[in-house]
Amino acid sequence: MIIQPKTRGFICTTAHPEGCARQVRRQIDYVQSKPSIAGPKNVLVVGASTGYGLASRIVASFAAGANTIGVYFDKAAEGSRTATAGWYNSAAFEQAAQESGRKSFSVVGDAFSDEIKAKTIDLIKTELGKIDLVVYSVASPRRTHPKTGETFSSVIKPIGPAYSNKTVNFHTGEVTVATIEPATDDEVRQTIAVMGGEDWQMWIDALREADALSEGATTVAYSYIGPEITHAVYREGTIGRAKDDLEATALRLNDQLGSIGGRAFVSVNKALVTQSSSAIPVVPLYISALYKVMKEKGIHEGCIEQMYRLFSERLYAAGSTPVDEKGRVRLDDWEMRDDVQAEVDRIWAQLSTDNIDELSDIAGYRREFFQLFGFETDGIDYEADANPEVEIPNLR
Ligand code: NAD
Repeated sequence: MIIQPKTRGFICTTAHPEGCARQVRRQIDYVQSKPSIAGPKNVLVVGASTGYGLASRIVASFAAGANTIGVYFDKAAEGSRTATAGWYNSAAFEQAAQESGRKSFSVVGDAFSDEIKAKTIDLIKTELGKIDLVVYSVASPRRTHPKTGETFSSVIKPIGPAYSNKTVNFHTGEVTVATIEPATDDEVRQTIAVMGGEDWQMWIDALREADALSEGATTVAYSYIGPEITHAVYREGTIGRAKDDLEATALRLNDQLGSIGGRAFVSVNKALVTQSSSAIPVVPLYISALYKVMKEKGIHEGCIEQMYRLFSERLYAAGSTPVDEKGRVRLDDWEMRDDVQAEVDRIWAQLSTDNIDELSDIAGYRREFFQLFGFETDGIDYEADANPEVEIPNLR
């Protein structure tokens, strides 16, 4: 069938198999153009099919030569519906990993459930023995608690007063002022339950109980801080409370893993276009301004560049892993540079519908958004027939 993008708000409901495969190949090529990393050998990535998790898996496999297991929540094609982008990405990853002689397996299902944890641990035991790196990169709007059965929904809202700032409809380039009403206490609680550290802790507990972690194993999850412009809606809002919880979990896990000589970190990554970040008000406009400034300064990075730097210059750097005063790895160092933020602030003050194309990289934002789903990718003929039914090798 001919597969074209179909968007509903910030969601694209179709994905292109060959375009996704091409995007994965581009990330593998990037990693293979860089020096290899003396890193982990058996890696579990929870949330492995898109964004930071996919890039982590590619770096582990193609820069460190690791065997990997990816856990993710994606759907195969059905009838006239294409598969999700994460499905096509993972199919392309699995194929490339196996062709290059690395072991790789996929577990598709709800990472929050006991069932998927048990299934993954069985697979580790039979295929890999033990794991020496666990990457936790789940971003989800909902979570059902495995013990109580309660389903939580996460919201992106400020805490305290209502918050107004500029936002953009990145499809049309229209800049408006969005006002977001503050969260209730229960919404804060639910957002922490979805995006905080409880499930990460449950994964590590389950892996330890099954004796599936190697001596000296490392675990990492991802966080964000960002500038003043986004604080009310991000770091000081509901999602920020969840990130506080995630960061506290890292410190706790680091203590607990001490008994096997292990380490736990949160890495504070840079803002970039992913399916999750496009859903946050204000943030896409900030990213458009940020991309403009970072590209002009020659310091722009996407997921793969960030994750290569995480492995090579932070987690597996010679000597100890550099962290900030709160024990966090910082990969947002270039984003947060004073000269970068001063320039973003200057642009932000002027941004409007009339000047958005010239002052920001909204065109780059839009293109990257569609590329997440395999569209707007060089070398793909979107008028040609494509087969949406793609199998994932080694799917468990
Ligand atoms: P993403 O949407 O690209 O990826 C999310 C992954 O989680 C996908 O693989 C998806 O399949 C998986 N997933 C979702 N629900 C699941 C479930 N129930 N079971 C199993 N897998 C599930 O998101 P992302 O932007 O790469 O975010 C990953 C992490 O990085 C998050 O913690 C996010 O807060 C953090 N982060 C993102 C940014 C950014 O700008 N995008 C910046 C800093 C930190």
